Amino acid sequence: MEKSNGLRVIMFPLPLQGCLNPMIQLAKILHSRGFSITVIHTRFNAPKASSHPLFTFLEIPDGLSEAEEKNPDVNLTITLLNQRCVSPFRDTLTKLLQPADSETEGAKERITCLIDDTQWIFTQSLAKSLNLPRLVVSASNVSFFLGHFSIPQLRPLTYLPLQDSEKDDPVEEFPPLRKKDIYRLLDGESETLDALLNLIYKTTKASSGLIFVSCSEELDHDALIQARQDFQVPIFAIGPSHNRFTASSTSLLAPDETCIPWLDKQEDKSVIYVSFGSVATIKESELLEVAWGLRNSEQPFLWVVRVGAVVGAEWIEAIPEELMERLKEKGKVVKWAPQQDVLKHRAIGGYLSHNGWNSTAESISEGVPMICLPFVWDQMLNARFVCEKWMVGLHLENRIERNEIDRAIRCLLLEAEGEAIRERMKLLKEKVGASLEENGSAYRSLEDLVDQIKSF
Ligand code: UDP
Repeated sequence: MEKSNGLRVIMFPLPLQGCLNPMIQLAKILHSRGFSITVIHTRFNAPKASSHPLFTFLEIPDGLSEAEEKNPDVNLTITLLNQRCVSPFRDTLTKLLQPADSETEGAKERITCLIDDTQWIFTQSLAKSLNLPRLVVSASNVSFFLGHFSIPQLRPLTYLPLQDSEKDDPVEEFPPLRKKDIYRLLDGESETLDALLNLIYKTTKASSGLIFVSCSEELDHDALIQARQDFQVPIFAIGPSHNRFTASSTSLLAPDETCIPWLDKQEDKSVIYVSFGSVATIKESELLEVAWGLRNSEQPFLWVVRVGAVVGAEWIEAIPEELMERLKEKGKVVKWAPQQDVLKHRAIGGYLSHNGWNSTAESISEGVPMICLPFVWDQMLNARFVCEKWMVGLHLENRIERNEIDRAIRCLLLEAEGEAIRERMKLLKEKVGASLEENGSAYRSLEDLVDQIKSF
């Protein structure tokens, strides 16, 4: 930990688990490099201030009603937050920037910049008017970040029925997605998204720099070059920050700590970990297919079913008692897991994943091969990277069916194909690990970021 450098960074995370984790982890990194940290946050999904006693937390009202907080349409939530946080955020930031009275602690510090999410579209013009440099964090990988700006252009494609013969055709504007992925990605997304994307593009271009929490130099090199050309702002690919600090302190739900002692009792690389992240939902019928798939595979499993993840149900009560008894013989079902510690555990042999970017990066960092079951948004692209570019996983192609799940688990844990996937994953893990070591690309990029923040 470096001593205080007299500079303060203001951070404003988007209140979604997948965005909060990298932002707070970045705050921890910067704090360890001598920066003081102020986190401005919404009331909705507020981070736990008591877990970070060295940061200053300032809550702003976000105007979301209880019903709006529960709405599963994430893009709508983001749009509403962008409308309703404008004045409370402006008031809080303006107050922070007022010259401090010379008697107070703050007088010795200079606020150097604002770091927030690319999806906070109202903050760029505000920061500019206050003469405060703004850096933005993208919680996706570079290929998705670049490709998602082509959505308005691709939308008309989905007005026509998709022919079987063209399902697997590549989509040039959004590689490596296939046509069928675009249909799923846009399913239920209204045209209001297009205006949001247009503003994300413009405000990112006007920002003072773009941060990816990924080893993009190694994992997504061509897209990184393209992004540098398109945006013409400094781009930092600092690596997945959980390698430096774990995310458990940023978890919005309480992790079930009995997972680890349970894993301690299992054989090496024998357990399949199942989790679909903090947002994805499934139907009761799909819950049952996963349950039967796990049971029939006869492999040990650790399965996270979030409260609220099964549409119309409390939790897992749809699983008949008899099946539940059989599931308990081999596995454990929890409501939330300490995922990073789980993936690190020697007993984990594979991860049946929704392929959120954080989860995908965490799995690669621990060398855990995946079975991919993406639901929405960038999950679709991450799954294509896992299975087709890096070849470190098996794709279920949206078949939430017991036989498919059973077959994929056995293949990954017991068969030669699974062994080959595991070997490739080992190499990928080493590549990512080297990037984070001294003089690796992510290491250097983080140094550049720290220098940039000091130079503002
Ligand atoms: N996570 C966790 N416990 C769980 C499930 C998920 O701690 O039981 C964490 C996981 O480690 C990751 C984050 O929640 O850091 C999920 O982010 P991701 O981008 O993978 O998916 P999202 O939730 O945004 O769909």
